[in-house]
Order: sequence, then C-alpha cells, then structure tokens
Amino acid sequence: MAKPHNSSGGAGQKRKSPSSSDQPSNSKRALKKERQSFRPNNDVVVSSKDLWNQLRKKTNSKEESRALADSLYELIKGKMLNLAKKHDASRIVQAMIQHGTSAQRDSCLSELAGDIPELSKEQYSHFIVLKLLKYCTSSKNKKDIVKSLKNQVVKLATHSVGARVIEVCLAEFTAKESEILKREFYGKQYAMFSPAPADNSNSNSNSNSNNGGQSLLNLLVEEFPDQKDGILKHVETVIDKCMEKKLIAFAYVQDLLCQYTLSASPSAITELSSSVVDYTLDVITTRPGAKAICQIASHSSAKERKRIMKTLKGYTRSSLLHRDAYIAIIRSIQVTDDTVTVQKMILNELVKSEGQSDEHPLLEIAKDANASKLLLFLLSPGGDVPQQYFDPWECDILAPAVNEKGEPTSRKNPETRKSELLQFLRDDIIKMVTQHAGDLIGHKFGGKVLENAVSKWEECVAPIMAALEEGAGEVFESAVGHLVLKRCLLTYKDRPEEAAAGLPGKFVEKWGGNFADAMMQSSRAAFVLGALCEVSKEAKKKCEGDKKLKKTLKEKAKEEKGVAGFLALADKLKCIFCTTCKETPGSAGSSDVYRFSRADFGAVPWSPLHYDLEFDFPTSTTAVQVTSRQTYMNNQSEPCSTLMLNAHNLKDLSVSVHTSKPSPLGPPPVGVDAKIPDFVSHVKELDAAASSLAAVPFVYDEDKRMLTISFPDPVAPGDEIVIRTVSTCHPDDKELEGIYFDFTPPGKPQTMISQCQQYGFQRIVPCVDTMNAKTFFTSRITASSEYSNIVSNGDLLGDAYVPGSDGRVTATYYNHNVNMAPYLFFIGVGTYETHVAEVEYPNGQTFAVEILALPGVIDKPEDATSALQSLVDSIIWTQVSTGPEKYEHEAERAKTYDLIAERDSLKRSGSNPEKLASIRAELKDLISVWKDTGYTYCFKTYREIGMQNSNYGGMENLNNTTILSSRLTPSRWLVDGGHVYMEGVKVHEFYHNINGSQTTGETPFEIWLNEAVTVHVQRQREDAIFGHDYMRLGQVAYAQAPGTGPLALDKAPSSMAVEPVGFNTTHELVSAMTYSKAPEFIRMVQSIIGKENFVQALFNYHSEFAFSNATSGQWVDCMASFSPPDVDLKLMAKGWLQRTNFPTLVVESEEVANNNLTVSLKQIGFAERAKEEERYPWMIPVEWSAVRDGKSVKSGLYILKEETGSIVIENTTADSFDFVSVACDWSFYGDVKNNAMTDAKKLCQAKTDPDTVNRFLAFQSILDNEKCKIVEALRAGVTDGLVSVSADFVDLYGAILEDSNLSISTKGRFLSISSSCPSRPELSHFYHYLDSAKCAILQAVYARYGDKLTTLFAELQADSKLENRTLKQATFAAIKAGLAAAPVLGGGEVPANGKATAAAMLEPLLDADNMSDRAFALKNIVELGGEKGAAAHANAKKVWTEHAIGCEQYIQCIASVDSEAAPGLIRELLDEPFFNMALAGHARTVARAWCANQKRALLTKEGLALTKELFLRVGKVNQMSAYGFLGTFSQTMKFDKGVRDELCATVREMKDGLDPKKEESLFNQFSRLVKSFD
Ligand SMILES: [Zn+2]
Repeated sequence: MAKPHNSSGGAGQKRKSPSSSDQPSNSKRALKKERQSFRPNNDVVVSSKDLWNQLRKKTNSKEESRALADSLYELIKGKMLNLAKKHDASRIVQAMIQHGTSAQRDSCLSELAGDIPELSKEQYSHFIVLKLLKYCTSSKNKKDIVKSLKNQVVKLATHSVGARVIEVCLAEFTAKESEILKREFYGKQYAMFSPAPADNSNSNSNSNSNNGGQSLLNLLVEEFPDQKDGILKHVETVIDKCMEKKLIAFAYVQDLLCQYTLSASPSAITELSSSVVDYTLDVITTRPGAKAICQIASHSSAKERKRIMKTLKGYTRSSLLHRDAYIAIIRSIQVTDDTVTVQKMILNELVKSEGQSDEHPLLEIAKDANASKLLLFLLSPGGDVPQQYFDPWECDILAPAVNEKGEPTSRKNPETRKSELLQFLRDDIIKMVTQHAGDLIGHKFGGKVLENAVSKWEECVAPIMAALEEGAGEVFESAVGHLVLKRCLLTYKDRPEEAAAGLPGKFVEKWGGNFADAMMQSSRAAFVLGALCEVSKEAKKKCEGDKKLKKTLKEKAKEEKGVAGFLALADKLKCIFCTTCKETPGSAGSSDVYRFSRADFGAVPWSPLHYDLEFDFPTSTTAVQVTSRQTYMNNQSEPCSTLMLNAHNLKDLSVSVHTSKPSPLGPPPVGVDAKIPDFVSHVKELDAAASSLAAVPFVYDEDKRMLTISFPDPVAPGDEIVIRTVSTCHPDDKELEGIYFDFTPPGKPQTMISQCQQYGFQRIVPCVDTMNAKTFFTSRITASSEYSNIVSNGDLLGDAYVPGSDGRVTATYYNHNVNMAPYLFFIGVGTYETHVAEVEYPNGQTFAVEILALPGVIDKPEDATSALQSLVDSIIWTQVSTGPEKYEHEAERAKTYDLIAERDSLKRSGSNPEKLASIRAELKDLISVWKDTGYTYCFKTYREIGMQNSNYGGMENLNNTTILSSRLTPSRWLVDGGHVYMEGVKVHEFYHNINGSQTTGETPFEIWLNEAVTVHVQRQREDAIFGHDYMRLGQVAYAQAPGTGPLALDKAPSSMAVEPVGFNTTHELVSAMTYSKAPEFIRMVQSIIGKENFVQALFNYHSEFAFSNATSGQWVDCMASFSPPDVDLKLMAKGWLQRTNFPTLVVESEEVANNNLTVSLKQIGFAERAKEEERYPWMIPVEWSAVRDGKSVKSGLYILKEETGSIVIENTTADSFDFVSVACDWSFYGDVKNNAMTDAKKLCQAKTDPDTVNRFLAFQSILDNEKCKIVEALRAGVTDGLVSVSADFVDLYGAILEDSNLSISTKGRFLSISSSCPSRPELSHFYHYLDSAKCAILQAVYARYGDKLTTLFAELQADSKLENRTLKQATFAAIKAGLAAAPVLGGGEVPANGKATAAAMLEPLLDADNMSDRAFALKNIVELGGEKGAAAHANAKKVWTEHAIGCEQYIQCIASVDSEAAPGLIRELLDEPFFNMALAGHARTVARAWCANQKRALLTKEGLALTKELFLRVGKVNQMSAYGFLGTFSQTMKFDKGVRDELCATVREMKDGLDPKKEESLFNQFSRLVKSFD
C-alpha cells in the first residue's frame, strides 16, 4: 500500500540501472560527449567527472575519499552554481556536498544559497538542494537556507518538483526553525511577524507530529481573529493547488489539510470533501492525514462517504493494520449510515481468507494493537465509543460529529448501526474464537477481544474451556492470561443469571472440587479465583466450605511478596472469615431502604502510608487552612492513575503531586512485630523535594463528597505516590462533626475541637475515610499563643510549643507508633484548665494523664484531683485486672493494689524514699508473675478533654478522649447517675485504646464490636466500684423499661439488628442495640465458653488483629475456637446479631421422676418472624439454680439450641428445693415466662432467691400482677373498695424493706416502683391506668408502713451517702402517694395539708450537698405545686441556669415534671433565654424527658401537639437528638382505633414536616415507622 512518507529525502535517489556507465558505448554517446566539450566549463566538467567517478567508489578508504574530495573542491569552487544548473554536472555538486568537510559544505552553501528556490524547481538540481538540506545542518546553515526560501514557500510547495524540497525541509527542520516558512501557507503577510510566543515545540518534532498541541493555524487565528476567513481561504487555495498537482501524498499537505479541517466550518469541510475523498488512500498514511479524513468523513454526504470506502476497497485490511490509517477506517464505519455498503466494501475484506493459511483472517486483526480497536468498538455495549480501549486522541476524533446547527451528521442510531455490523461479523468472530481461543487468552489485545466476545455470545465459552483443557495452571500463572480470564469472568457481573450456565459455571464444574489445589498456586491464580467468587455464588459457597482453602489463604496472605491476589480473594471471601455475615437468601431484599450496605465497604484500593498535616489557625478568622502531604501505595492489581478521596465541604482546594519519588515506605505495617518506617526522614525528604510538586487535575464532586485526582502517569501496583492538598474548612457551632466550635471563655480566641467518628476527618482534609484505612500521622499546628492547649494525636515533639514571629505558636505531634483509623483523629485548640497526674505502672513505667477542663466548671480543686484519681485507677485496673490472666494471681493482684495505694501516698507526701523504693521493687516482682497483663499504654500523655457541645457522651480519639464536661469530673452539679457514668466513661474510653483503636472493626458494621466488648469490660470495672447487684439491676431495669428500653425498641418496627443489612448514617449504628443488646451478646458468649476461656480468646483476638482491622466474623472465630463441641457459636452469633427482637423463654413445667427434676423449656418468638429465613431458634444460655432456704443447692448452665429442651437436675426430690431459679443474673437478652412457678413459689423467690436479679424479677412480676389487676379494674370502671392491693404484696414490700441481706442501694432498686409492667406487654400502653395503679399500690404500702417510712425517710435524708439515694427516693414516693394524692381505689379524701406536708419534708433536700437529692426535691416539689413549689422553681431557675451543667440539670428536672402543668412548663422552657436548641445537651434532654412521659406526650391532646412541635424543633437542628421520638410511638398499633388513628396521623405529620434530604436519616426512620402502620 501507500509509500512511507516522513522519511527524509525519500524520493528519487536511486540509480535507475546498475548497468549505466559513463563510458560511451556507442556512437550516439560519443557524439554527445563531443558536443559537450564545446560548452563553457567543459574542462572542469570533464575533469571533475573523473574525480567524481573515483570518489563514488565504495572501496575508497577514508583518506582516499578525503583527498579526492579536496581535489574536487579545488577544481569546482567558485563554479558550483554553474555546474549545479547542468543536468549532467549536478551529481558532481551533490557528491561534493556529501563528501566535503563542513567548511567545504559551508562554502558550497554560500555559493548556492541565493539560487536555492530556482534549483529546487528543476528535476536535476533539486537533488542538490536536498543534499544541502541533509548535510548543511549547522544553525547558521539552516538560517541561510530559510532565508533563501523566504517568500518562495507556497510557490515551491505547490510545484511538482519543489514540493519535495519543501517536504524534506519541513521534515528536517524543527518546528521552530521552519515556522517562519510555514507561516507562508497562511498568507505571505504572516511571515513578517515574529513567531507566536505560544510555540512550545522546541523538540525535534517535524510537521507530521503537529497534533498534540495547538496547530499553527489555530495560533494564527487566535493572533488575528478577524482575519480567520482570509487565512482559511489562503490555506484552501494551497490545498487545492496541491491536489491539482497530485501532491496530496506529501506530509505537509496532509498536515495543512488536517489543520484546515479542524478550523474550518462544517460546511466548508463538506465543500472541500468532494475534491479530497478520492485521494483517501494517499492521505491516511500520516497521523494528521488520517485525522483529516476522519473529519471529512464526519461531514461528508452519503455519496462521498461511499466514495471514501470505494478508494479503500482492496486496502481495508492493510489500512486497518497501518500505524495511522486504522482510525480513518473506524471513523468511516462509525459515521456511515448505509451498513450494507460498509459490510460489502470494508468488513467483507476483513473476513476473507488470503492464501492457504489455516489462520482465521480475523486473528491478525484481533491481535493488532490498532486494528483490534475496530472489533472492540463493535463488540462493546451501547452506541458509544468504549473509552477504556481508546486513547484521548482517538476519543476526540471519534466523538459524535454535528453540523453548524448542532444536528448529528449521521442519522442512524449508533447502537443499531453497531448491532447491524456486528451481526455480519458474528459468525466469523465466533469461528476465530473457536479456532484460536488459546492464542487469544495469552494475548494482550486478542484477550480484550475475547473478553468482549464472551460477554456477547455463549458459544465462546466452550472454546475457552477447551483451550484450558491442558495446562490451565500455566495460563493462571501467565501475566496476560490470568488477567484475561479474570476479565472474562467479571463480564458476568452484569448478567448474574447467566453465570451458572456460562464460564463461571464451567469453572466450578472443572475445578470446584478442589479450588485450593487448582487455583491457589500463585497470586495471579488467586486473582482469577477471586473474580470467580465475585460472579459465582456457587464458587463462593464452595470456597467458604473449604477448610483447606481457608488455611492456604491465611498462610499465603501472610507471605511477604506476591500476596495481592490472595488479599483480593480474601476480600471477596470475607465470609470465610466472617461466618456471621453469610449470605442468607433474601436477606438483601430490604437493603434498598438504606444508603449503605456491606458491599459499599471493601479493601482500600490505595493504602494511606502516612499523613503529614499542617494546620493553620489564623488569628483573624475562624477558617482553618489544612495542607497535607499524603503518601499512598497502589493496592490494586493493575496500574492506576486516579485516586479517589473523601472530602466533605472543603473549600479552596488545590492538589499537586510530588514528581520526584521519595524512598518508598513499604506496605502498611500490620501486626505486633511489624517494622515501622522512619516517618521523620520521610517528611524531611518531602520537604527537600518541595520543588518537584506539580499541580494535577482533579474533580471535586461536593454532592458525593468525592475528590478524584488524576496522576500524569499510572502508578504501578505496589508503587507509592505522594500527593499534596491544600484546603480550607469553616467550623461553626452547628455541625458537630469535623472541626467545630466549643465553649470559649470571654476574651479568649474561639475554642475549636474535632469529632471525627464517623465521617468527620473528611470535613478536615481529603482522605480515605474508612475504618480500614489506618495510617500514621505527623501534625503541625500553628495557632494563637493565647490558646492554653494545642493538641492532636501522638506525642508532642519537644516539651513546649514553639513560638513563631507572628504571635502564634506551633505544636508538632508525632503519631508514629500506632497506625490510626481516620475516625480517631483529633485536633483541639482552646482555653482550658489543665490538671495533671502521673500513672506509674507496677513495673515502674510512667506516663502523664491530663484533664483539660472548661474554665469555671470545676468548683473545688478536690473534684479535679478525684477525677484524676479515678482515671489513674481505671488505667491501672485495665492493666492489672483485665487481660488473659484476669482470673489468676488473685493474691498478687490484691497485694499489688495495696502497694500502689501506699506508693502513691508516699509519692504525694514526698517522705520516706527508702520505703518508696522498696515498694517499687516489690511491685516489680509481683507484676512479673504475669506472663501477659491487660493493656499497657504506650504514649507520653493521655488526655481527657471536657467539651460542652457534642452528640456523644465521650469519644475515644487516640490520646485525646473527649468527655462531656458535665461528666468529666465530680461536681456539685453531677447527679448520681452521672457519677456512675463518669467512672464508666473513663474506663470505657481508655479501654478503647486496645479495643477499637489498636484493633479496629473493619467497617461501620463492626462499630458494635468496638463498643460491645468495651462496654463489657467497662461493666466489670463498674461492678468493682459500685457492686455487681446494684449495677446489674440497673442494666436489667433499663433493658426492660417499657417503650423506651432496648427490649421494647428491639421489638418495635423501626428496630435495626446489631449488624443491620444497611444504614443511612452511622449515627443509627450508635444505638441501644450497640450499647445494650450487643454487650449482652458478649456476655452470653462468655458464659457459653467460660470466663477463663473468654479472656484468653479476647487476648488472642487483640493479638492477632493488633494494629489492624477485624470483622465481626473474625471476632466470633476467635471465640469459637473455645466453644464446647456441641455449640455452633457462629450460628449463635448470626441468630443474635443479624435479627432484631429477642426470644421469650417459657418454663413449661417442672417434674420430678426417678429422683430427677426435669425443667421443660420452650422458646418462642422465632417461628412467627416475617422473613422465612429468620425462622430458626436462638441459642440461649440458661443459667439455673435450685434454691432451698435462700441458698443455691444446685446450679448449672444449660444451652437451649432448639425450640424446646429440658434441664435435668439429678438426685433431686420434690422437697429438696423451694423453686428453680431460671436465667439467673439475666443470663440471656430476652424475657422469661415461668409457667411452673406457682404464686406461692414466686413469692418465696421474691423473698429468698440468692440471685438478686431473679429475686428482683419475681418481685416485679408480683408487682406487675398487682398493677394489672388494678389496671383491669380501672378499665372496667371498678373502684371504691371492690378491688384492693393484696396483703401478700404489702407483706412482701415490708419483707424487703426489712431484709438485711440486701444492700441499701439494691433495696432502693427493688422498691422504686415504676408505672410500667414489663411482664404484661398487652397492657403496657394504658399509661394513665398504670400510673394510677402505681399510686394505688404506694398508697396501700403507705397505709401499712406510713410511720416506718416517714422515720426511714428522715434518717436517709440526713445522710447524703450515694448508696442511700435510691431508697430515699423510693420511700418518698410512697409518702407522697399517701399524703398528696387522692385515694385511687376509693375510701377517703386527700389528706388535709398533705401536699404541704410532703413539700415540707422535701424542703431540706433542696439544699443538699449532692445534685441527685436537689434535683429529686425540685421535681417533686414543683409537682406538688403550691407556694413552696413556685418558690423552689423560681430559685432553681435563677441559680442553676447560671452554670452550664446546672442548666442542663434544670432542663432535665423541669422537662420531667409529671403534672397537668407539664406541657406549659416545657413550652416556657423552650422560650427561656438560657435554652439553646443548638446544644445537644439541651435539645436531647428535653426531648428524652418529654418522650418518657407517654401518658401525657401521646394521650392528651395538648401533649400530642407539643410532641409534634418539639420533635420538629429538635429534629431540624439535630436529627440525632430526636431519635428518641421513634420509641415513643412504638406501641401505636395497640391502641383502639380512635387513639390509633390520631397517633398515626401525628406521626405522618411529623414525617412530612421533615426535609427528606436535609434530615435524611430521621426522615427514613419515620418513613419506615409510617409504613409499619399500614
Ligand atoms: Zn465507646
């Protein structure tokens, strides 16, 4: 086909025939010679010819050549022009130029320069010019040549001989050197101007390559916009002339043509096309020419398009295989509507066999880098150009063409066109695949064709399998083959229904019996298997069931190199390690209600290796500028040039990349023994390489919160890249995520702190914001020196902040030890009171603890000291009393605590250093008995930072726990619950160091895991401080609280499983299920595997996944390795974690036979579940104990796995026990219904069960019966003496009141009588009657024990001890009912002055030294009303609200007032100047308190209106604070129609009042609630 073009001087150098000679051989020649001898210079010609003849001999040595050239030069110098013009002497001059020295060449040029244009036009002499162009290459030479050609370019370019000179000249000279000449193409006048400054091509690029940057034509048009038409016209004339002279094959002509088609209007191109199309074959041989034809084809008529194809006929195959021409073929096909012609003229030729070859004619096409693109274009889905196969230059050319009116220039639907053409090729492509599948699998380009063919036609599957019949292993190993197979498999992602019968199915058939051996030989093979698992459920299932595979995978994934494929496979098979999330059919069904599902969280494609952050807090504004340098490693199997980062609400973003490559940091260090890179030198290296930063393109999609960065070059798998981002965030006091404002003392700069869980870090800096993107941090913070504290994660560099020149200081923190998930990031700049203490572990290791309190919050220094002591104790306790040896070393432990107390007191006093030293030595010895202690802190400082505004009570940011200011230290405002909370939160957040921070859940679905184990350990600490029974009763009472407790919430339609199918915001995962149900699950696991095993299993878990992430399944696996043989712990986990609701355990009977007591059990609650796949029993650990005379005579653990089961207690007779206590200490999360328990037995249990929880529950059950009896009577309208509280119950109350076995605090829990009835849910919505029933019972109690209670109250009131408080309140409740309420069950009046008497009893408590008593007194006195109530109310409003925490307490008290006045009080509260809806502490408190009072919030008209109003006011400011309203409505469907309709209507109005986008989460939750009403 067409000749090569851009070769220099390609034309006309060859001699015509080797036989030609200069010896005259006949008479004609002799005559000629004779004639010549008479012309001028004839002598010279003759002699020089001799020399020339010698000179051109190939056998000459260098020296001989030199000498001959010198002689020739001497002979012809000064006469060169003359010789040059003679047709027979021109070759002599050519030889002179070729063989001359550079000085001789210069001299030749200077003799000839002036006549170059003339010489260029002659057939003989133009060769001399070509020689000059080739050999005279100094810049002076070139300048001379350019000078001589000036003003002659167009003439020569359109001259049939001169064109060659121009072609060679433009090819030999750089764009810059020749630009002045080229300008003449556009009009002579443009050559006069200096070259446009935009010229950036100082490389050796010739005119042909002028397609990347802007064309000269474009530049000129830009320079002279008003002359565009003239310029184009000029170019058109040049092109026309060139075509006339048949010069179109020259590169510069094609280049001009290309430039023209890119600048001219569509109609001008159409006009030009008819004169060009017939030369298509000549034009498409260069890149610009091919592009020009593409443009022309785009704007041609159907007739001309046909002409293009006609010229190609016979050459389509070779054109398609040509370096440049292929694109024109593809474009022609793409724009031609007449597909029949395309088939006939183009495609037909591609499928016709040439010669005898066995090879299918399409194979050559499929394996060619360019030609294959035609097939890929036709095979790809849709009508578009598949961008993954075409480079940007090609995509640009193949973009849809439109005319001046913007209409497409082709009419046919692109998809239709493709399918018509493909239909023609179909059989041939299949034939080719059938014949050559093996060849294609191993081929870079052929593989792509194969992949697309497989995705279209199932006939391609068998050939692939046949090709793999032998040596599949080799293919799996091969660099190309494994990728091709992987991609072939992944094509089934789009059509899962075909997978089983298609390639995936065949793979499973062939290798499914033993994937481990067949497809796990190498990382590459594992990639293929990973892809297979992605598309084949069956393959995945087989893998999950394959122990060998699991083992191999675990081993392989730990190897140092070549693990990418195994990691990818492990990722696909998360379920191998995570048996709790096994796919259950249909379970994904409801996931569309949620924004996120598990599938949204995979392995990170880019691992962050280090974040270097620079925070600039200017003094003039509150905007924060963050400059980051982030180092990433490409985790993917293929090179990648885009990086996607999370970025939320960041402004003024810029991104650049370090083009220099710093020394690699290596893969992220994971595990205990990992070697951590030197980040200090990494940062230094980046500093030094600052000049290598180059801005890169990026796209910031603010809606999707994604920043997509493009790199100039792809980053190879395993390679690293450093990016730099600069951005600004704008903190405020509304959005409590990312950096935000917190309490600031007057006159001080704005305090700012951060909250990153769950997605706050991306509000600070672009980042990979997932829990598994753990990395190391270097943070430099520059902020006002007026801040007392500037803190972040890690250890402060040096001892102090470094002052700068602008009145600010800089603090640098290294977090280089513990890789940290982004949600744990913290930054804080603020004004605090700092209190410091030292933790000294038994082995002598020390670190500092700091409490950063908001100024003015701590009244007394002792409160700070005591808070610090609590913290230090918790930290020591975590090391000494948790860990794998928790249940060993009892004596050593006790001794250790004693010695630590003694040591610390000596440290404080500073006396007796000898004693101190000896204690320290002894402690060291003691602790050395431990092989492994509990968690040991490894940083220099641990901080607790008080905050005022937060959605959370505390947050375990690494090294910088934040805790609500009201719960940070004891204070005169802290209520008892707050005190318990304070102790709990300290140990809770600290324990997160190991459980959450060091070992982190893999995804938000594992937040429960981080929390539940932590709560479990926190509870152990609380037991140690406050007593087990007291704490456990609190947990049980809370769990069973009707309507609002976790059990009630879990039953409600809006409930989510601990591990839900999906979620909208992670706030939904921070729920009662996370903090109550999940810890109960942990506790159940502990009781099944045994507590000693449990601590060991937990230790294994924390070791195996240290500095890494773990899934729920991995945690369960660690536990399961200790489970009893007959217990499937994974099934147990699934049952509890992935379903909502809970079981009710029914004790059906107790029977004694043959000296055995059989207790028959049945669980209910699973069979009637809505989803069929959830209808299987829970696995329930049932702790039991047979009790006789208040003692446990036999006890044990029974695990109920099926629907029914029985506990068999051997050697037991009917009179050897009083009753069997079942589910002791609330051994499972759920209800017990004991049908075997007679009233007498139950009464006995309530009086004597040594298991306090069951005793309590028996008491509650009797109490419930009393309540229900009364509720039913009230419903029936029966009062007035016909119904009364039973004497048995009143006796029981008295017995408990007198029982010396119960602690005062526990007794308080028993006798705090609520208005709920946990055991009778069918009555639980009769809020009014229940309240009256409670009152009736208390009145009966008061009637019997009035004096006793009054005396007791007086005693308790005088002593403000914490443990007294609950009983004090319980006692007063009875007194209040007796004195101040009308008798519920008839029989008398309200005692005269009763209210005033009761109020008087309370009065002293208004000034108690503790908040609990004061709050209790205030609430009750306001409820009692009267003058005392009003006075107390006014006083509290004034005094309490002056203090931040006191203010919250005031809101709490007033919002929970239970009287007719309540709605009025709340409305008044909302309008108070001190009430701030933006503070979560205010909004949440009022919402919760009101929601808890359901009889008023739901069942009164005024109350219901307030409920709706309050909900919208709270929810629109802070969604999270309004979640409590959901539970309030959970019983809606139980009410009679009238009430029900009213409640449903209200809920609908509440939902409709929300903005579906702004309040998405709340809106969705309420939508589901509304749906559940249908
Ligand atoms: Zn927590």
